[in-house]
Amino acid sequence: MTDVALWDPESDPARETVAQGIRCIPIPTPFAVGRVNVYLLEDDPLTLLDAGPNSGRALDELEQGLAALGHRVEDLELILVSHQHMDHVGLVDILARRSGAEVAALDLLAPWLARYGEFQDADDAFSGAVMARNGIPDETRLALRAVSHAFRGWGAKATVTRPLAEGDEIVLRDRTLRVHHRPGHSPSDTVFHDAERGTLLAADHLIKHISSNPLIARPLDAPLDDAEVAAGLARPQSLRIYLDSLAATRAMDDVRLVLPGHGQAFTEHVPLIDERTRLHARRARRIHKLIAERPRTAFEIAQSMWGNVAVTQAYLTLSEVLGHVDLLLNDGLVAEVEGDGGVVRFESLAQPAD
Ligand SMILES: [Zn+2]
Repeated sequence: MTDVALWDPESDPARETVAQGIRCIPIPTPFAVGRVNVYLLEDDPLTLLDAGPNSGRALDELEQGLAALGHRVEDLELILVSHQHMDHVGLVDILARRSGAEVAALDLLAPWLARYGEFQDADDAFSGAVMARNGIPDETRLALRAVSHAFRGWGAKATVTRPLAEGDEIVLRDRTLRVHHRPGHSPSDTVFHDAERGTLLAADHLIKHISSNPLIARPLDAPLDDAEVAAGLARPQSLRIYLDSLAATRAMDDVRLVLPGHGQAFTEHVPLIDERTRLHARRARRIHKLIAERPRTAFEIAQSMWGNVAVTQAYLTLSEVLGHVDLLLNDGLVAEVEGDGGVVRFESLAQPAD
């Protein structure tokens, strides 16, 4: 297998992970990102971080992975949830029911997980409205909505029995994990920090081989019937929120080993965060130049940057563009102008930097 998620067992981070009583079980997903890293903490309580997508193959591979380590699903006592994406939460409910394990997740995420279908409907309505407002053609939006609907079953509802808040401590026999809310990649990103060992269970907040996409997502605390949110008028500045979260992680001085949601374990998170911060600043400048040529919609910007990928991956690329446009808006470099039919264009207010 050539999957990037499979670790080199001889690497220092892999050895260190095992020495800490943490085992990575990479679980297959149907998504482009490839396998998702599920972590088993061989501690008391026996703890699993994330669960993989809701599929028979994922469950089978998880059971095989646990068996290879001398455990069964029924032995699990605590399941930690890193964030709301279906490759991480899909099997949580099945595992919890079979084992009786506690399920710990961010308090803000608990209603979303409990009413998964209803919140997915609201999320789809929100993303559809954001796409319409930013110039994505109707046929593309309808196609994406159908895809989103078809994929929904890879996730599932789950019952959170232990809601978590920023700064909470999860005390296990051999370690204490401190909970930090680090939104941006999703609104619910939660990292778990073992300060004594300098280990950060980072999930998709920080991944070495890919830049975590700050998807524009419906705010978790918006009521299901919030009309302004449903119309795509109140949307979070996901990239700015993500950059703030990265800065908070960069400022942690007791992080040596990072265990991500995809790909290899790694050290040296500070240069990686600096590299990502520079990448986003560069991309914002590039987008400013496109807007300075002539006013454009976010969809037009995405098309000139990524061609047809702006259609096939319309929401991903739209989130990417809007995230950087937000940085330009906040700096007073561009303005948002609403035109006919409520579609917005961005126009430049200043000379773009080189
Ligand atoms: Zn994710």
